[in-house]
Amino acid sequence: MNDIVIRNACGVFTGLKGAQARRTGDIRIHDGRIATIGDVPEQPGDTVLDARGGVVMPGLVSTHHHLFQTMLKGIPSAIDAPLEKWLRLVPNTYWRFLDEEALQTAAQVGMAELLLSGCTTVADHHYLFPDSYHYDPAAILFETAEQLGMRLVLARGGTTRTRKFDTDQIVPAPTETLDVMLKRIGDLVSRYHDPAPDSRRRIAIAPNTPTWGVTPDELRELARAGRSMGIGLHTHLSETDNYVRYCLDVYGMRPVQFVAEHEWVGPDVWFAHLVHLDDSEIALLAQTETGMAHCPQSNGRLGSGIAPAVALDRAGGRVSLAVDGAASNEACDMGAEMHMAWMVHRAAHGADAVTCEDVVRWSTAEGARILSLPDIGVLAEGMVADLAVHDLSHPRHAGLADPMLGPVASGAACVRHVLSAGRPVVVDGAIPGLDMQELMERSRRVVSRLAREAAAYV
Ligand code: ZN
Repeated sequence: MNDIVIRNACGVFTGLKGAQARRTGDIRIHDGRIATIGDVPEQPGDTVLDARGGVVMPGLVSTHHHLFQTMLKGIPSAIDAPLEKWLRLVPNTYWRFLDEEALQTAAQVGMAELLLSGCTTVADHHYLFPDSYHYDPAAILFETAEQLGMRLVLARGGTTRTRKFDTDQIVPAPTETLDVMLKRIGDLVSRYHDPAPDSRRRIAIAPNTPTWGVTPDELRELARAGRSMGIGLHTHLSETDNYVRYCLDVYGMRPVQFVAEHEWVGPDVWFAHLVHLDDSEIALLAQTETGMAHCPQSNGRLGSGIAPAVALDRAGGRVSLAVDGAASNEACDMGAEMHMAWMVHRAAHGADAVTCEDVVRWSTAEGARILSLPDIGVLAEGMVADLAVHDLSHPRHAGLADPMLGPVASGAACVRHVLSAGRPVVVDGAIPGLDMQELMERSRRVVSRLAREAAAYV
């Protein structure tokens, strides 16, 4: 493979902190890794990417997603619903109508949108593995990631207990016994899991919730099984104040204390949301290096609150950024997510609560650290060349005294080029080999079918 040289960018965000957050110069990529940042003399055979007027940053890392939800955006009955009602009306109503075409289309649309917002790594929390599906969801997700050139951590969800809803017409989410769940996760690990520091395929163990999805003993067993397989541990935690109340009522302690009692803290654990934390929980998360997948858009959309991401970051904890499922976001654009993260903490805590550099660090280096992918997430010599050239040619970016601020401060990112391990996966704003018009038409067909099938039951 020829070397790729990125020339003429306004600057480079490294993903690092403080004085190391920005660098200038051109970038040489050799054999999928960054060889030089700075003065890059021309060499015969170089492939040059023109980044004039653009900003280079590491490929963004979204640490919590539900790709299957990409065909379930904007369901009218749930557009103004809080979490529990939304769960009932959206994922729990629709899951059994998701056929192979629907999941594949959802994964393609979701990953295409992530790539076009500069995101190259996604952790997908997929929790639908019922016997009634005549296809293998994991195979579809990994094949789609491979085709589009994304790194995928499949956080394999599941539950041994489920909530019954107030109408028989809503079929509870599929359950498995713990033994079956562990066997199936073990099979996925042997088929897909690559522990390498620049892995493209990982498995994590990810019960839907630790509090009502499994029993406390099963929760501890899952942690031990995950650690014996050498895989990460992920789940939802403390998304709403109901969640905290339930945990206090049933287990007599707050959620972070509850998971800590059951061996679910540590650098191999990350939780989605963590909106409602008290000071002792923030300190415990920071001390144990347990990660947060901060989802400010989904939390805003569902009215769940604002997670104390800044407090956790200041306490030395690990904060990453994530879009969550598109059914509670109505998009999966990591650029928009960065903008929201930058805005929402300033609205709540003042204009100096969080900087653009903090948001870039959460979305890149911290995300990679939480997913235990130490060779990505930072732009420096020797690191894997997962990166995006953010374009600043839109009128929204004109007039910026410091153009580097554009991709975060001016709103949704537009990308010109994206590389994954030095391979172009977005070229001039388009995904090579993807027929976007066909994909959009297929999406409309899938959405109409899902609406028809759901209407016949609900
Ligand atoms: Zn979620």
